[in-house]
Amino acid sequence: MTMEEKTKELKLRDVVQLYRNEEKTPSNSYEWYRKSAQQYGRVSIGDTDIPAYKKKGIWYVDDKEFAKAIKRHREAIKHLKQVTADYAKGIIHGKNGDIIHTEWGGYEIHGNLRFVWSNYERYRKKSYGTWYCNKCNILAGTEHNKEECHLCRDWNGCGRDCTLSRVYCSKCGAFLNV
Ligand SMILES: [Zn+2]
Ligand SMILES: [Zn+2]
Repeated sequence: MTMEEKTKELKLRDVVQLYRNEEKTPSNSYEWYRKSAQQYGRVSIGDTDIPAYKKKGIWYVDDKEFAKAIKRHREAIKHLKQVTADYAKGIIHGKNGDIIHTEWGGYEIHGNLRFVWSNYERYRKKSYGTWYCNKCNILAGTEHNKEECHLCRDWNGCGRDCTLSRVYCSKCGAFLNV
């Protein structure tokens, strides 16, 4: 017989507390996780879903599953911080079409240009986002020659920049026809 490392059962209630002590975790209550366990048999720890099960009225998860999810969560936070710090230094990550998240929002690569948004400004409906040139790292110019969408015409607006037709860098000439 081989000695196998036994999986320990952790009470979901304790796991939620441990998880909430980690950085950048949602403020969901234990009740929220319990409902998820009840409904899906799983709970979300960071970006990872782990199985949850009930024994004698108490919800549990396996310690190894939880440890793996926490490890991934910590790695994701570390990466997020790195990308954010890089951005402040003018280092842009990703290739065409990639969406890169930062601590304050994110950016999407469109060839030589990028679309940058701030969660704070979006939340307050101040700005949907701004275009920059990747090479020159300066604000890009925009032209708005498209017709507005029906949400803008007939309703309260789409909240996007739907009339945008062209983005260009006045310094290096990079451009994008939308
Ligand atoms: Zn619109
Ligand atoms: Zn440029």
